[in-house]
Order: sequence, then C-alpha cells, then structure tokens
Amino acid sequence: HAKTAGRSRFAVFGKEMDAMLQQRRTLERELREAMKSDVQIQVHYQPLYSAKEGRLTGVEALLRWQHPERGWISPDIFIPIAEEAGLIEALGEFVLRQACLESRSWPIQTLAVNVSAVELRNPAYAMRVAKLLLTIGVDPRRLELEVTESALMDSTGHCEHNIRALRALGVTIALDDFGTGFSSLGRLQQLEVDRIKIDRSFVQGFGRSANDEEIVRAIVDLAHAKGLRTTAEGVETTEQSDYLRHIGCDDLQGFLLSRPVPVVEIERLLGVSDLLVVDVEAPANRAK
Ligand code: C2E
Ligand code: MG
Ligand code: MG
Ligand code: MG
Repeated sequence: HAKTAGRSRFAVFGKEMDAMLQQRRTLERELREAMKSDVQIQVHYQPLYSAKEGRLTGVEALLRWQHPERGWISPDIFIPIAEEAGLIEALGEFVLRQACLESRSWPIQTLAVNVSAVELRNPAYAMRVAKLLLTIGVDPRRLELEVTESALMDSTGHCEHNIRALRALGVTIALDDFGTGFSSLGRLQQLEVDRIKIDRSFVQGFGRSANDEEIVRAIVDLAHAKGLRTTAEGVETTEQSDYLRHIGCDDLQGFLLSRPVPVVEIERLLGVSDLLVVDVEAPANRAK
C-alpha cells in the first residue's frame, strides 16, 4: 500500500538522518580532541608552478587530519564541521601560523593559505593576520589568501573590509574554485582579487565536455584583460598542461606536477632539507 510504503520510507529516512547527525557529532568531538593532540592535525604543501617555465613559484598549504583509527579525513568533510562548530578560527590561525613558520626560509614567491568565509566575517581578521605576519617576520607580499565566492557575496561588508585591509598591506587575494559559485565572467571586473583559480572540474572536462576548453580560455583572457593572474587547479595530464600553457594560463597546480606532500618532502623538493644541517654537524658530534 502506498501510504504504508511512504511511511516506512520516512522511517528509514529518519534513521539515516539520526545516523548522519550522530556521526557528525562524533566527528566534531573528535576534531576538538585532534586540535589538542599536536600530531593529528598537520599542514601539507602542494607546489605551484609557472606554466611557461615550469618553475616552482609557490606552495599551497592544505590542512590534514590523521585520525588515530579512521586514517586521513578529508578537509572537505572536517572544514564544514569546524565552521559550524565554531572551531574554524582556531584551525585557520593554526594553519596560517604553522605555514608561515615552516616556510619562512623557503625559496618561493608565494605562500598560499585557504581562508574560510566564516573567518573573513570577523571584523578583526585582517588585523590578526597583520600582527601574525609582523610577529613571525613574513613579508605580506609573500602571502596569498585563497577565498571562495561566498566570502565575496557577504552582505555584512566585513569580508570586503578585511580583503581591502589585507590588500592594502600587500597580501594578495585569490578567488578559489572559480566557476563553481555564483560569479559570472562579467562580475570578474568588480571583484577585489588578484588571481583567479579555475576550478578543477573545468580542467578535467577537457576532451570530454565540449565547452570546457572554450570556457577556460575565456576565463584566462578576461582575467588578463582585467589585470588578474590565473591558476589552473587539478592538472593531471600532459594534454591538460599543454593546452593551459598554450592559452597563456599563468600557473599550474595538480597531481601531474605534484601531490600535496608533508613538510619534509616539500623541503627536499625545494632543496632546503634539514639533512644538510645534520651532515654538517655530524663530524663535530662524532668528535665528542
Ligand atoms: P582547494 O583549496 O581548492 O584545494 C585544492 C584541492 O584539490 C586539495 O584538496 C588538493 O589536494 C586537490 N588537488 C590538487 N591537485 C589535484 C589534482 O590534480 N586532482 C585532484 N582530483 N585533486 C587535486 P584537499 O587538500 O582535499 O582540500 C580540499 C579543500 O578543503 C580545499 O580545496 C579547501 O577548500 C579546503 N581546505 C583545505 N585546507 C584548508 C585550510 O587550511 N583552511 C580552509 N578554510 N580550507 C581548507
Ligand atoms: Mg585553495
Ligand atoms: Mg581550489
Ligand atoms: Mg576546493
């Protein structure tokens, strides 16, 4: 009977909802614990390369959570939980501080760090970043903050105010995952950003979805006409990187070039490995 079938469907739905909410509460509790633990939450780094010369120009800091039983938990899962649970400001502060400290001596132009719209809505955000950079001794021009379109659509005006203040300091702003949100190409000119990061769904549509090459070419051309730089995300094949280079996309990021890696590995890649220090000190230690 339709009525009873409907009712039991609701019952199942209700159970699934309960299970989901239960899991979310568990994750939230475990995330709080993880943030106190000192080893579960880490920062990994993915290199960014100039498309033309293939030079390593910067790195993007990406949060990683290694759960003691469940293994790696994706930031796509725990960042939204942190945002809702009021934990994102502490997490954001941690990743920014850690990335600034760890990358201080790296031979890179740009340290890119993701910022949640929730953080940017705090009127004190720009000042906190400024103080942190000053304390650690990082040139603001070296920092690029990656924001999403939701931060630029904020009606309170706080995000906009923070972005203005940060840019005045010399911090650059990148619009992350461009093309997935509300912004049209036409809005690009009004946005207070320095760079557009083209969402990986477009890059991965090359050769599959007829329009994606054309869309990406149009984004790159328009961005350049407005004086913005462009980065393509999710570059996984040489065909993709060849086309992106051909249309003049400025920078490339993706598994083809490198996956996000732990700090020891990025330091090896950059040739600033601690092993050098150990080598130099080894003879003296042996002499003792
Ligand atoms: P995002 O900022 O767009 O970061 C790029 C994501 O694409 C990363 O996923 C990276 O591992 C992945 N990626 C890079 N190259 C490729 C590729 O060639 N193919 C594929 N399939 N994926 C690639 P990840 O590290 O899982 O992070 C997911 C999202 O979580 C980030 O997307 C960002 O929105 C958020 N996130 C990560 N760390 C932070 C953080 O410290 N703060 C905030 N607020 N958000 C963060
Ligand atoms: Mg990003
Ligand atoms: Mg992105
Ligand atoms: Mg993303």
